[in-house]
Amino acid sequence: MVEEVRERLYRIEVPLPNSPLKGLNSYVIKGDGRDLVIDTGFNRSACYEAMREGLAALRCDPEGTDFLITHMHSDHAGLVGRLAGERSRVYFSRGDAWVFDKDRSVQPMVDYARMNGFPADELTEALASHPGFKYRPERVPELTLIDDGFSLAIGGYHLRALGTPGHTRGHLCLYDANRGILISGDHILFDITPHIESWSYQVDSLRDYLGSLTKVYGLPVEIVLPGHRSLFCDLPGRIDALREHHRERAAELLAVLGSERLSAYQIAGRMSWDIDCASWELFPVTQKWFATGETLAHLRYLEGEGQIRRNAGEGGFTFSAAGG
Ligand SMILES: [Zn+2]
Repeated sequence: MVEEVRERLYRIEVPLPNSPLKGLNSYVIKGDGRDLVIDTGFNRSACYEAMREGLAALRCDPEGTDFLITHMHSDHAGLVGRLAGERSRVYFSRGDAWVFDKDRSVQPMVDYARMNGFPADELTEALASHPGFKYRPERVPELTLIDDGFSLAIGGYHLRALGTPGHTRGHLCLYDANRGILISGDHILFDITPHIESWSYQVDSLRDYLGSLTKVYGLPVEIVLPGHRSLFCDLPGRIDALREHHRERAAELLAVLGSERLSAYQIAGRMSWDIDCASWELFPVTQKWFATGETLAHLRYLEGEGQIRRNAGEGGFTFSAAGG
């Protein structure tokens, strides 16, 4: 489905079957010479068909279209290799480009998960069924790497890239100051909370994320165009709610921890999750993976705040209250 958001600016709703995200918002700006597509959907047929139909309805020809991807996740980047023509420019964040490294290995992440209590026998399945791996681009086109401050003028819009690490390290929002438009990727969503995970001790993603919320808090904005679900207007109001959400989650985590020593996986299993499952044991393994990653992000943050301690043991890491 194609909808006009503003003059020359359109949204294509791309379905994401079986995903709690439901759909992806791909934004299209019609330029005078070339057009620009921001984010694309998973590399799977339902997404491809929706994008092909949407782009055809908007008369975007692949060779005359450039692409900008807000962050590396496959629901945003997955189709870029199939949609881009030979002459398309593909703008991609330098901070996320490591994901396409040929000799990249998932081993450090797997080891980290195991050290944090994720059961070895569930790990292979968790990775195999992870949509990020399943629906990633098969072919990665030549990328034009961009950073915070990059700017692009198209169809009367002046977009400036804002580095907003947290959801991913290289996440970019796009801001048009004249028109008060913020294309927020997955940095700020309205109906759901952006997923913040940490699969490396070096990355304090929740701290980065809260910093990135502050970075955009005061921007004069008329409308926010997020990567999923509803468009919205009240940016500071939504940021206040997201900050409050993370405060509540941190408090819940500390309550779960109490005076025990628990692994991140154990803590995740005792936290409350917005999912239709009677018990943690019944969670699909991908959901356990997301839950553990999110718990690790909160643990890393609370450790940095001096509220909890990480204890190294023989089998891996456990956490305990700082005073305990
Ligand atoms: Zn997304």
